[in-house]
Amino acid sequence: MSASPTQCRRAVRAARPIPAAARTRAPGRVFVISSPSGGGKTTVVERLRRMMPQLSRSVSVTTRTPRSGERKGRDYRFVSRATFQRLQRSGQLLEWARVHGASYGTPRRRVLDTLRRGGSIVLSIDVQGARQIRRALGPQAALIFLLPPSMTHLRQRLAARNTETPMAIRRRLAAARREMACAAWYDYAVVNDRLDHTVRRVARIIRTAQRAPTRTIARRPKGEPQ
Ligand code: 5GP
Repeated sequence: MSASPTQCRRAVRAARPIPAAARTRAPGRVFVISSPSGGGKTTVVERLRRMMPQLSRSVSVTTRTPRSGERKGRDYRFVSRATFQRLQRSGQLLEWARVHGASYGTPRRRVLDTLRRGGSIVLSIDVQGARQIRRALGPQAALIFLLPPSMTHLRQRLAARNTETPMAIRRRLAAARREMACAAWYDYAVVNDRLDHTVRRVARIIRTAQRAPTRTIARRPKGEPQ
């Protein structure tokens, strides 16, 4: 499962510049959770929020079509390309990226309102988005990467979801290798081997970060691509 910094650079090459500095003086926290597609972050975030109901969750906007079982406004705000461009151009997205052929973005207002109230919010976003959030919020954001136990495990999870074609699964696995190379510059990397275990570890990271002064939340990123 070893991955190189070059692979990471490829994964974040499309990262966009930040519209404007978003840093606030409020004591709130942003927790970015990334993993390759099929890495289990949706389940981990759901379980975390049951355990920590005060934790907000950002609902992203996306141009991708809904999968069966996904609910509008709960899983994503599904929008047209024109609407996405309008949101992006008018600065309403804190970060955005093209992932697997669709556009995804984090609505700016909810995150900043949560921070101003001193609350904590979780963003389940990809590595390009994580990099933009780090640039926008600095140590007010803690970046957590969930690693799959193995590539075989990841392939099985993607196949079991039954939502992607074999070609899409191959593309997502190739992207996973590039994304996993970025785990090196996240503040925390957690192997998602057993769900309960993973959720407890992430919850511990969040509680520790919430108590820490802002400047100590993020460890110095190692080898973050420029
Ligand atoms: P999926 O289509 O499988 O729900 O998500 C595909 C990828 O897009 C995942 O890695 C997910 O974390 C990422 N993603 C979801 N929302 C956002 C977002 O708002 N911004 C960015 N940068 N990535 C996102």
